[in-house]
Amino acid sequence: MPGSATSAGGRPPTKIIAIDGPSGVGKTTTSRLVARALGLPHIDTGAMYRALALAATREGIDTHDEVTLEELASRVRIDFIPGETPRVLLDGEDVTALIRTPEMSMAASNVSAVPAVRRVLVRLQQELGRRSGGVLEGRDIGTKVFPETPYKFFLTARPDIRARRRYDELLAKGEEVRYQTILDATIARDAQDSNRSDSPLRYDDTYTVVDTSDLTIGEVVRRIVGALS
Ligand code: C5P
Repeated sequence: MPGSATSAGGRPPTKIIAIDGPSGVGKTTTSRLVARALGLPHIDTGAMYRALALAATREGIDTHDEVTLEELASRVRIDFIPGETPRVLLDGEDVTALIRTPEMSMAASNVSAVPAVRRVLVRLQQELGRRSGGVLEGRDIGTKVFPETPYKFFLTARPDIRARRRYDELLAKGEEVRYQTILDATIARDAQDSNRSDSPLRYDDTYTVVDTSDLTIGEVVRRIVGALS
């Protein structure tokens, strides 16, 4: 059982499982399987930052332009529909497939460093979680979105292993990519996510840390579900 830290607000009334960690660590597959095992919705918060990054790119907004991004974040509507195949809607349009490109990965990391963007999306994530509980995956779920949940897991893996997983995923989708390019992008994105001033990628002693480098997805899921029972 992970640490039972509760903040002044107490525990949330619904069950919230926080799964944080860097890119390519297996968060999405793990979270989906943990959610299925527990009968909870799977909420992929990275998809929301990706959707906003897509909106910015489409409008020709620089993904570092804080003022314009703040206006964009309060104007566009992002909906996340949990389910076996979760979907992300941008102003009603299903953008689930469009946001899964290496370009959107870096653009999402850029927009996610803007505090106003985080305010809007964190509120949305809290509303979704409070409504039905859920397995929320991201970078700051246990530190900022639901710091009061006692169920926090931080997944890690060596950078070369994470880059290899991403590379295999993209190859399987038929994309032409170089391993070295993916490794460089993985390291750059993690550095940016870990060093930003608002909600950097961090964990503390309220988390259970799982190093997935030498584990199968099944083993990771069993560890998490086992720690919760
Ligand atoms: O998890 P995923 O790779 O889809 O996330 C894309 C980007 O969104 C991350 O690199 C990170 O910068 C940002 N993100 C975040 N906080 C979250 C989830 C994602 O800052 N809770």
